Amino acid sequence: MKKYPDGKLNKSDDGAIRIAVYIENGRVVLNFGTDLSWIGFDKETLKKVIEELQEKYNEIMKYRTKKTVAIDFDGVIHKYSHGYGDGSIYDEPIEGAFDFIQKLMGEGYAVYIHSTRSPWKIKSWLLFHTFATEYDAEGLGGDPTNYKYPKYGFTLMVIPFWKKFWNEENVLGISRRKLPALVYIDDRAVKFEGDWKKVRAEIKENLF
Ligand SMILES: [Mg+2]
Repeated sequence: MKKYPDGKLNKSDDGAIRIAVYIENGRVVLNFGTDLSWIGFDKETLKKVIEELQEKYNEIMKYRTKKTVAIDFDGVIHKYSHGYGDGSIYDEPIEGAFDFIQKLMGEGYAVYIHSTRSPWKIKSWLLFHTFATEYDAEGLGGDPTNYKYPKYGFTLMVIPFWKKFWNEENVLGISRRKLPALVYIDDRAVKFEGDWKKVRAEIKENLF
């Protein structure tokens, strides 16, 4: 708690207010401790408030980048029963994949899919499987390919090339690039734990 006594503008202004800046449940809280309709800041005080907010902003961004989960597409979300084939996305989703993503997002994780495939092609496939149309929602006809309503509580976005990390809530990102993440979920991964010999043995186990 800090006191800012120099903001007084006129008679209706008490001229002092206590402000607390803190983080609660992943949100930055600006607590005035009292009912407040307006507040005036001189430049020094404003600078201090901005600095405190900036500091808390940095803290939650750091915390949230640590809660990003990256998921591979083929063999993890897309069933991929016959391998790469002609390069089309031909198969059904793996059961439970979207429920899993929805649950993860509900717990505050940011989630993105990374794959060497075209992210736009993945997006259309995901639209088909995770969105409903007006037709589904109201049973009234209309364009059955006009996907409008997310069935799982998340929308979709191809991650722009300039993004250095992914931390959007309730948006499933799609990217060709491997962005920072807490974990990477991949059907072909070998976990590196500091021992190259172990990695080599694991690769050999996968040969047939
Ligand atoms: Mg895969």
